[in-house]
Amino acid sequence: MMRLPRFRYLAPATVREAAAVLSSEGPDAMLIAGGTDLLPNMKRRQQVPKVLVGLRSVAEMRTARNGNGLALGAGLTLTEVVRDCRVRHEYPALWQAAAQVATPHLRNMGTLGGNLCLDTRCNYYDQTYEWRKSIDFCMKKDGKTCWVALSSPKCLAVSSTDSAPALAALGARVRLVSSEGERAVPVLDLYRNDGIRYLTRRPAEVLAEVILDAPRGWRSAYWKLRRRGSFDFPVLSVAAAARFGSGGVVEEARVVLGAVASAPLLAEEAGAALVGTRLDDAAIAAASARAFDVAKPMDNTDFALHWRKRVTREFVGYALRELRGDDMRATRVRTARQLPPEK
Ligand SMILES: Cc1cc2nc3c(=O)[nH]c(=O)nc-3n(C[C@H](O)[C@H](O)[C@H](O)COP(=O)(O)OP(=O)(O)OC[C@H]3O[C@@H](n4cnc5c(N)ncnc54)[C@H](O)[C@@H]3O)c2cc1C
Ligand code: SF4
Repeated sequence: MMRLPRFRYLAPATVREAAAVLSSEGPDAMLIAGGTDLLPNMKRRQQVPKVLVGLRSVAEMRTARNGNGLALGAGLTLTEVVRDCRVRHEYPALWQAAAQVATPHLRNMGTLGGNLCLDTRCNYYDQTYEWRKSIDFCMKKDGKTCWVALSSPKCLAVSSTDSAPALAALGARVRLVSSEGERAVPVLDLYRNDGIRYLTRRPAEVLAEVILDAPRGWRSAYWKLRRRGSFDFPVLSVAAAARFGSGGVVEEARVVLGAVASAPLLAEEAGAALVGTRLDDAAIAAASARAFDVAKPMDNTDFALHWRKRVTREFVGYALRELRGDDMRATRVRTARQLPPEK
């Protein structure tokens, strides 16, 4: 049985208080929300904070506010996000992403903020302490070498969050709060393509809220590749969003790839290939080809990397056909990516 290392637990009641604790405790402290990622990591000694700053008592982070769109508290569980009918009908990519995270039990505990800040993953890292010790560890924790690419100067662990690509495609921002003040950052800018320093969030900042603009003409979709349809981390994901003008012509579009790098990747040229079209087959093929060029999966997660790269083209096509209004339910079932029924 793997045991947790010793730690002190603090339970602030407000975001400001949580930020103050983080700044006074310094690098030994970490935030914990649902703990579904952090606690297993602590048991494997991948992360060993001496102080855990619990966010469960921070009521202001567990609300969803209407404004000029929707502001979702980072402490909302994924189950709460999935049950919100505004998310389901106005931001389908987020709904589809959140609904496909892990299992119902883990979604009952896991939060939106924790999902966005999820540690990067790698076959050589997500192992017990003894397993990692047997290979002399690796650069991400306790070692010096990257076993995925021996000459790589940086860690190539995979960004495996489902909600980040979806929120990036939707153009969402996150509100980060520290003792010094607060700032809003586009979701895409929250990430750095580096498996160790994968977040641009400063150590003493709390991710308090996710801000979504009103959907106004935008449609979105999220497709996830994983081995088991019942639960598994993504090993490739595609989030697509497009704003349609009169006559169904695309005025703006974003295609974001997940799990093919240490950060969600914006396939800029794929989005550009869709503007001015009605998402006809030729435009979808052109965008899929551009996204295929961007995807650079590494050999450190499930499935062969060449196959994962090939599937990028297919999944971008599926997501864009869903945006166009095609009925993709049979394809979702065929690819074992069926979503849970509406509550
Ligand atoms: C078997 C299994 C399967 C899983 N499958 C998936 C999957 O398919 N897709 C997926 O995306 N995830 C998956 N997960 C990972 C995890 O369950 C989810 O990502 C979950 O949403 C994490 O949220 P949490 O609240 O539990 O995070 P925690 O474990 O509490 O925290 C995760 C990280 O985020 C930081 N953090 C938490 N909240 C904040 C905040 N408000 N501000 C700043 N930092 C914060 C913590 O310090 C920690 O570094 C899986 C986990 C398990 C065990
Ligand atoms: S990519 Fe390399 S350094 Fe990063 S976790 Fe994997 S083996 Fe370790």
